[in-house]
Amino acid sequence: GATTHSSAAENVKTREKEASIPFTRPSKADSTLTIVVVGASGDLARNKIFPAFFALFYDDQLPEDFTIFGYGRSPMTDEELRITISKTLNCRVDKRENCHDKISQFLKRCFYHSGQYSSEEHFLELDNRIREKEGGKISNRLYYLAVPPTQFVDVVRCANRRASSDNGWTRVIVEKPFGRDSESSKKLTRDLKQYLNEDQIFRIDHHLGEELFENLLVLRFSNLVFEPLWSRDYIRNVQIIFSKDFGVEGRGRYFDNYGIIRDVMQNHLLQLLALFAMETPVTLDAEDIRNEKVKVLRSIKPVSIEDVVVGQYKGYTEGNMSVPGYTDDPTVSNNSLTPTFAAAILSINNSRWDGVPFMMVAGKALHSKRVEIRVQFRHVPGNLFNRNFGNNLNNATNELVIQVQPDEAVYLKINNKVPGLGMRLDRSDLNLLFKKRYPREAPEAYERLLLDAMRGERRLFIRSDELDAAWAVFTPLLKELEQKKTAPELYPYASEGPVGVHYLGAKHHIRCV
Ligand code: NDP
Repeated sequence: GATTHSSAAENVKTREKEASIPFTRPSKADSTLTIVVVGASGDLARNKIFPAFFALFYDDQLPEDFTIFGYGRSPMTDEELRITISKTLNCRVDKRENCHDKISQFLKRCFYHSGQYSSEEHFLELDNRIREKEGGKISNRLYYLAVPPTQFVDVVRCANRRASSDNGWTRVIVEKPFGRDSESSKKLTRDLKQYLNEDQIFRIDHHLGEELFENLLVLRFSNLVFEPLWSRDYIRNVQIIFSKDFGVEGRGRYFDNYGIIRDVMQNHLLQLLALFAMETPVTLDAEDIRNEKVKVLRSIKPVSIEDVVVGQYKGYTEGNMSVPGYTDDPTVSNNSLTPTFAAAILSINNSRWDGVPFMMVAGKALHSKRVEIRVQFRHVPGNLFNRNFGNNLNNATNELVIQVQPDEAVYLKINNKVPGLGMRLDRSDLNLLFKKRYPREAPEAYERLLLDAMRGERRLFIRSDELDAAWAVFTPLLKELEQKKTAPELYPYASEGPVGVHYLGAKHHIRCV
C-alpha cells in the first residue's frame, strides 16, 4: 500500500540525509556512482545521453568509480550496446586530440541489462549486477528515464523497491512530457511521489541547460544598465520567439499528440519568461530561484483564446518541386487539427509588469531558424531629435535582443549620429557575438544538466509546484481549443507563419519582426 511506498521514500530520504552529514561523509574513494539509462535502445539515449556522459568523462567530470548500465526490453549483450553507442560518441570536446583511447576506456564501463519495465524481478537482477560493480562501497545511483511517459511509474516503482541505493542517494531524471494538462501532470507527480521524494526527482527540460538560461540571470542581475529598466516603466513589450525551419519530417507520432503549445510554450518558453520576469532571488540557490519562478508563473493570467493564433503548415508544389504539408506526413493523421504554430499574448498580473504584453511565438516549418527574446523599450519622452531636425528616424526605440539561435548573441539597438555635417540619425547595434568573443565550444545542454543532477544541483530542474503553475497558464486554453475543435490557420511551409499573428501583434501595439 501507499504507506509502504512512502516509508520506502522516507528511508531513502533518511539515507540521503545521513549520507550528507559532514563527519560521516565517506571520502570520494569510498563511493561509487551507477548511472542507469532506462530505454537505452532508444534515440534519445543513443544520440544525446550516452554522448553527454562520454563528454563529461572526457572532461574528467565523472567520479573515479562509475559504471553505466543501459536497461531496456530489447535483448542486447554488453558488447552490442558498446557497438551501438560507440557510433554516436565523438571527440567533440577537443577536436585536435585523438580520443579513441578515452572512448574505449569509457565503453569498458558501460553494460546492458535486458528486462521489462514493470518487473521487480528484473530490477532485482539489475541490482545484483550493480552491487557486483559497487564492491561494497557507498552506492549512489542515478536513473535516467529515456522511455515513453507511460512507463515512468512502473520503472520508478521497480527501481525504488528493488534497485535503489541502501546507503547513498538515488535520484531519477525524468524527460518531458510531464502530462498533457494540469490534471494529468498532477497525477504523474502524485504517482511518482508514491515512491520518490520531491528532491529525488529531476524533471529535465533540456533547453534549460543552454547557456542562455544561466546568462539571463547574469545579464539581468549583474549589470546596472539593465535591471533598473526591467519593468513596465521602460519596457513596452517582450517577445519570446522559437522558430524552426523544418517540419516534423516523419517524426510526427509524438508531436501530433501534443502540438506546439505543449511541446515548446508550456515548458521552454514559459521557463524563459519566468527567468526574464521574476523578482531578484535571495541567493542563487536552487530553492531561492525556483521560489521566484513560481511566484511570477502564478501571477500570469491563464491565456485567453482571444489572445491566441494557432496555425498549421501546408505543403505546396512549385514546378517539379513539392514540399509536404503537416497532414501529408505519414506519421500524422490526415484530419489532424494539431497546431504546428502558435502565438499567444501573456499578461503578468503584478506591479512590475502590469500592462506589458509578453508575446510568445513558436512554430515549425517557418522561413528561419531563430530562438530569441526581444525586448522593445518605450520612446524617449519629448522626441527632441524628431522635433528639431525632422529626422529620418521616426520614434526609433531601443531594443535588446538576447539570441540563442542561429548564433548566441546579445545585441542592443541604439540610435546614433551618422558621422558628417548635419544631424542624421542611424540605428545601430552594440553587438556581443559569443562565438567571436568566446571561441571555445560550449558544452551540450545535456552535459550541464547531467552533471548538475550528479552533484545534486537542482537549479535547472523543474520543481513540482513550478510545473503546476506552468500548466495552469495553458490548460484552460488547450481545453477550449480542443473542445471547440478550432481549425488552425494554414501557412505555407517556409513562410513567416499565419497572417493572423500581425493582427494579434497590432491589437497589443507590438511591432512583430
Ligand atoms: P523511443 O520511442 O525511442 O523510446 C525509447 C525506448 O523506450 C525504446 O527504445 C524502447 O526500448 C522503449 N519503448 C518505446 N516504446 C515503448 C512502449 N510503448 N512501451 C514500452 N517501452 C517502449 O523514445 P526516445 O528515445 O526518442 O525518447 C525517450 C523519451 O524522451 C520519450 O518519452 C520522449 O517523449 C522523450 N523525449 C525525447 C526527445 C528526443 O530527442 N528523442 C526529446 C525530448 C523528450 P525497448 O523496446 O528496448 O524497451
